[in-house]
Amino acid sequence: MSRLPTTAHLNLDEFELKEYMKFTEFNFNPKVAAGVTAAGYVTPTPIQAKSIPTILEGRDVMGLAQTGTGKTAAFALPILHRLMKGHRGHTRALIVAPTRELAEQIHTAISSLGQATGLRSVTVYGGVSIRPQIARLKQGVEIVVACPGRLLDHIKQKTIDLSRLEVLVLDEADQMFDMGFLPDIRRLLTHLPSQRQTLLFSATMPQEIRRLAKEVLRDPETVQVDLVAPAVTVSHALYPVDEARKTDLLLNLLKNTDTGSVLVFTRTKHRAKRLGEKLGKVGYKAASLQGNLSQNRRQAALEGFRDGSYQILVATDIAARGIDVSQVSHVINFDMPNTPEAYIHRIGRTGRAARSGDAYTLVTTDDRLMERAIERVLGRSIEHRTLDGFAPSASAAPGTEQVHRNSRGCQSTRKREYGNASAGKPTAARSKNPRNRRPSGQSARPVAASTGGQ
Ligand code: AMP
Repeated sequence: MSRLPTTAHLNLDEFELKEYMKFTEFNFNPKVAAGVTAAGYVTPTPIQAKSIPTILEGRDVMGLAQTGTGKTAAFALPILHRLMKGHRGHTRALIVAPTRELAEQIHTAISSLGQATGLRSVTVYGGVSIRPQIARLKQGVEIVVACPGRLLDHIKQKTIDLSRLEVLVLDEADQMFDMGFLPDIRRLLTHLPSQRQTLLFSATMPQEIRRLAKEVLRDPETVQVDLVAPAVTVSHALYPVDEARKTDLLLNLLKNTDTGSVLVFTRTKHRAKRLGEKLGKVGYKAASLQGNLSQNRRQAALEGFRDGSYQILVATDIAARGIDVSQVSHVINFDMPNTPEAYIHRIGRTGRAARSGDAYTLVTTDDRLMERAIERVLGRSIEHRTLDGFAPSASAAPGTEQVHRNSRGCQSTRKREYGNASAGKPTAARSKNPRNRRPSGQSARPVAASTGGQ
C-alpha cells in the first residue's frame, strides 16, 4: 500500500476514491484480521489508512480527527497486533480518555475487534466501586482504558503496575484539557516508562494541546483528517425561534420529520432532564443522559438508545461524549452549543462512518454570534428554516458589527467552560480575551456543568 503524505486533508470524497485500499493490506495478525472481518470493516477510513501503517512501525502519532472518523480502530488495531507478540498478564497498553462513556466505548471496540486474540482489556474510572477494578487488574490484563482521576488513585494505591507499559494513547486530548485533566495527565506521565510509543488524538489543537504534544511525543508523524469540518454526510439547518417556544418547535419538528434515532442536546443537566420527561409525557420513548444520573442509569439510557427502546435521547455535551449509535438520523441542538467545536462534536454523533444525517439547531436572537462562528468553521452559511407559526417575535439583529467582531474570537478557540472553569468568567463588556466576549445581555454559561467527568 502506498504511504500517504505526512499531513494532508483527506475528506470522505477522497476516501471513496481510495476504495482500492483494503484492511488486508495492513497484514494484521490473523486473529486481529478476524476481528476486522467480524466488525464488517472492509475499507479503512482516512484516519485509519493514514495512521495505521505509522503506528505499526512503532512511531509516535499525533492524530487530528474528530469522533466518527474511525479513530478508535485506528489505534486499537495496531495495538492488538503488537500485543499478539510478547508476554501477557501485565499492562502493556494504556488508553486514557476524558469520560466514562468514551472509556466504555473504546473498551467495547477493543473487546469486539480483539475477540479472537485472547487479549484482555479493562476499564478504570471513578463513580463506581474501585474493588472490581482492582480484582480485574490483579488477574492480569494487557490493555487498560482509563479516565485520569481513578487511574491516579490506582497508581497511588499501587493496584496497577505500569512499569512495563509499551503504548500510551491519549484520546480526545482537547476534551481532557477542557475538563481540567491536563495536570492529572502530566502527573500520570511521571509514572510511565519513558521508552514507549505514544499516540495522541485530538479533534482540535488549542495551544495547550500543542504544548502537551511537544512534551509527550517523540518525532511524531501528524495525521490529520477534516480537522474542523464535520462529516460531509451531515446536512445542517437552523430554526429561528423564541426561547419560550423551543419545546413546541421541537415537538413540531419531531412530528413532521421522518426520523430514526434522535439525539437532542441541551445546555444544562436540568434542561436535559426536564425535556426528556416532557417528551416522555407526550408519548415519545425518550430518555435523558446527564451527569446527575448514577453510572447504572447512564448506562441504561445509553443502552436503551442503542437498542432502540428509546427513540430520543436528550443529553448534555459532556454526557454525550463517546456516544456511538450508528443509526442516529438527527441531532437536534435544542440549545446552541457554546463553541463551534462543541457543535462539531455534537453533530459528529450523526452521519457516522459515511451514513447520512441531519443536524438541526434551534436558534434564538441571543445565538447569532455563535451561529456566525459555526458558519466560519464550516466555511459556509447554514440554511435558515422558519416553520409556520414559529417566526421569532424579536427578529432584529443585535448590532451586526459587534456580531462580526465578537464572532472572530469564537472561531478557533476553545473555552474552558465544559466543567467548572467558567465560573466567574468575565462577560463580553469586560473581557479583554476575545474567547470570553459575548454580546451584551448574554451571560457566560457552561455547556453543561461538570459530570465529575469520570
Ligand atoms: P469512532 O470514530 O472510532 O468513534 O468510529 C465511528 C464509527 O465508525 C464506529 O461505529 C465504528 O465501528 C465505525 N467504523 C470504524 N472504522 C470503520 C471502517 N473502516 N469501516 C466501517 N465502519 C467503521
